[in-house]
Amino acid sequence: MQDIEKSLALQNLIRLQGLQGGQSELRDRVERTPKEIARLEEELAEQRKVVEEAEGAITHSGKERRKTEAEVEDFRRKLSHYRDQLMEVKTNTAYQAMLHEIKFVESRISEKEDFILEQMLESEELDQKLAEARKVFQEEENAKLAKKKELEALIIESDSGLEQVEEERARVEAEIPSEFLDRYQRIAKVRDGIAVIKVVDHSCEACHVRLRPQLLAELRTNRQIILCENCNRILYYSDA
Ligand SMILES: [Zn+2]
Repeated sequence: MQDIEKSLALQNLIRLQGLQGGQSELRDRVERTPKEIARLEEELAEQRKVVEEAEGAITHSGKERRKTEAEVEDFRRKLSHYRDQLMEVKTNTAYQAMLHEIKFVESRISEKEDFILEQMLESEELDQKLAEARKVFQEEENAKLAKKKELEALIIESDSGLEQVEEERARVEAEIPSEFLDRYQRIAKVRDGIAVIKVVDHSCEACHVRLRPQLLAELRTNRQIILCENCNRILYYSDA
């Protein structure tokens, strides 16, 4: 094979390696991004749950309060009934018993009214909590929906980038003589996709093993494919 051809093939292999690297990055992104979107949606659902819980607490507290208010009404009716009866009792004992009953009902009313007051205070707190949860949710929702839009655009962009890279890759592969391409692919398979490597400071840039001077001289003449004696990658020498 002519030197010029080998040099060209090597350039194409380097180009191919770069394209494959870009391709696997894009593939990763296409695969990873929908998961990121799903995570955003899960987080948002969690935040929505906080709002729903705050709403539920308010509903529950309102029910409790209405129940207690109804109980107070019952006690008041009882109280007025007892007071009417008080006028009609004949004996002192019966009078005392009725008074006792009235006192008991009054104390129950007072207890219930204290409870209603507590519930009213609690309901203010619950309203505040709900307002806060809604505000946080709104902010989170805005931020997350914007992020989601960004990620969706990224998927589209990556998909079309992937198509372009694949086309370019096919084009470059077609230009590489098959013996080079086969060898490249065999090495790339076992070397994490890095089959062509630059010589830096007289050493293989991948495994850092120093090249023998003779190998280095052969590499500079550009006459044949030279493999790193340690990691078996295809070496290239660049003055730049
Ligand atoms: Zn090496």
